[in-house]
Amino acid sequence: QQGWTSDSSDSVISSGSDSDNNLYKVILLGEHGVGKTSLARIFGGVEDCPDAEEAGNTYDRSIVVDGEEASLVVFDIWEQDDNQWLQNQCMKMGDAYIIVYSVTDKVSFEKASELRIQLRRARQTEDIPIILVGNKSDLVRSREVSVDEGRACAVVFDCKFIETSAALHHNVKDLFEGIVRQIRLRKDSKED
Ligand code: GDP
Repeated sequence: QQGWTSDSSDSVISSGSDSDNNLYKVILLGEHGVGKTSLARIFGGVEDCPDAEEAGNTYDRSIVVDGEEASLVVFDIWEQDDNQWLQNQCMKMGDAYIIVYSVTDKVSFEKASELRIQLRRARQTEDIPIILVGNKSDLVRSREVSVDEGRACAVVFDCKFIETSAALHHNVKDLFEGIVRQIRLRKDSKED
């Protein structure tokens, strides 16, 4: 079982949300080589969906989650030139964050925690959806970070957790659907 773990508040009660508000900016964070671009490209349907728009490092696509459409713009810009200004912008602009590490790289896992701390500092008063992603779960023999370690880290940092394999397209759809659900949960509770 490598699906959702964490809390049980996944059900979505849609509350007639305004459609102009249904475009969400999702930012990918994480060390070089952990699989950010691979995940973003699968989301964007770059290989299999002729309608997908790919503009440089952003991927724009609508998906139907729980019967309701949502548009996500996924930004894969975190590493560009190690640009500090851009990284500050990234920390400010997201409606949701995907922090990726590779299960085959302990250092990338430690870096993910640092990014979570940085993000918390940048967005102190806000409750933004964050999903911690252990990617490359297919590389069983070179695994350095266990599922339990990933899960425990997500508990400490109060975010969702999922393991994915971009190589096998495993759990990638669930990841992006999960992001939409997390955004909606917060939006709905604000509207109540
Ligand atoms: P980024 O630097 O974080 O954007 O990482 P990339 O998406 O460029 O991926 C880095 C390398 O890891 C590439 O060679 C990918 O093909 C490979 N890779 C990405 N995801 C996976 C995965 O889930 N499993 C395996 N085996 N390789 C992966």
